[in-house]
Amino acid sequence: MEGLTDGALYKNIMRNLEEAGALINLNRNALERLKIPRRAIVVAVPVRMDDDRVQIFPGYRVQHNQTLGPFKGGIRYHPSVNLSEVAALSALMTFKNSLLNLPLGGAKGGVQVDPSNLSKHELEHLTRRFTSEIAPFIGPDEDIPAPDVGTDAQIMAWMLDTYSMESGFAQTGVVTGKPVEIGGSQGRDSATGLGVVFIIEKALETMNKTISGSTIAIQGFGKVGMHCAIEAYALGGKVVAVSDVSGGIFNGDGLKIPEVVKYVEENKSVKGFPGAESITNEELLALEVDVLAPCALDGVINSNNQHTIKAKIIVEGANGPVTTNASKELEARGIFIVPDILANGGGVVVSYFEWVQDIVWLFWNEDEVRRKLKTIMYRSFETVWKFAQEYQCDMRLSAMGVALKRLETAMKLRGQAW
Ligand code: NAD
Repeated sequence: MEGLTDGALYKNIMRNLEEAGALINLNRNALERLKIPRRAIVVAVPVRMDDDRVQIFPGYRVQHNQTLGPFKGGIRYHPSVNLSEVAALSALMTFKNSLLNLPLGGAKGGVQVDPSNLSKHELEHLTRRFTSEIAPFIGPDEDIPAPDVGTDAQIMAWMLDTYSMESGFAQTGVVTGKPVEIGGSQGRDSATGLGVVFIIEKALETMNKTISGSTIAIQGFGKVGMHCAIEAYALGGKVVAVSDVSGGIFNGDGLKIPEVVKYVEENKSVKGFPGAESITNEELLALEVDVLAPCALDGVINSNNQHTIKAKIIVEGANGPVTTNASKELEARGIFIVPDILANGGGVVVSYFEWVQDIVWLFWNEDEVRRKLKTIMYRSFETVWKFAQEYQCDMRLSAMGVALKRLETAMKLRGQAW
């Protein structure tokens, strides 16, 4: 479908789908159904700016599949957001939720905007208007948004409030990743990064190594990258480099991550952190480390730069950071890659915990959340690892294979594939 399924990321994901489908001999009807999202909502989001001008921003919510349960997926605010990218990410959510064995379908949303150019007032208005435009299609039993690139707990709080105003009563379960004071879960902020670290531990284990003393480079110092750095450092990992959009910092003896976090709180960027040398994002990706965790944007490791990669393990903290072609070339060079739908699943796992807690109005403490998250991440890694041995394939195909098998069974039971 023009505009929806023709972007590079969408095509990449579909290639993985077809390949994994062939590997497990996926039912043809199920395959065809999974290639096209169930529903795509395109909205105009008018915002009265502080200078009284009305500016219109394009907004999207794509609901890919709801075979396993309500649609679920984040909302992205970024200037490069477009319909096909959102559609691709919605498909990824379907496969991720299935792989993690969660009773949820896949969706994604976004607004084409640079949130750093908006005042707080403009950001709130944008969020409320976007929520109001997609309100007929979301809800605690229908479709549950969450934060993603450029959005946070405050934005989820405004979404919750707008949706609740329209429905007439408090609907805390309509979004996850909201502040704990209004029904959020303990441990949600750090969940994706912590999940990435659990997966790093398991990946290192396959090479008879532990995280303690292993060298790690992390691209992106946002919600995923920063918490990945904090948790890896806490477990004794040697985080030698981190970066953000303005560039990276490197220290071969390991960065003192709590000091980097404090520096970023004060300076809004890792740039200029004392006690480290400046490097570019490209240089960070090319470091000789045990583990490289790209936790920023998609497509950063591609056919143009894959030959520069020297890490032993790549754990995809971001969605789609390694293109399919680059992935194959890297695997052929013996680099072990853990794909996004497994590696960054911690966020949606704790989002699921949050949704469950909101339904029963009974809240867990952080230890309980971390323990339950660890169980699911370790178990999911082991399932994918075993499947990869059985089918003699890489972890990307294996993760997709596990996800597709569960989806196929559910689709057959529901009469969607035969
Ligand atoms: P974020 O906005 O909090 O952080 C993004 C980070 O990437 C920032 O440090 C930013 O400076 C950096 N960045 C932006 N453009 C860059 C560039 N061109 N080069 C290098 N760095 C750049 O976003 P996030 O929530 O941490 O999400 C990062 C990735 O993880 C995305 O692919 C997202 O879809 C994925 N993801 C996020 C979650 C979650 O819970 N937040 C869950 C699963 C997957």
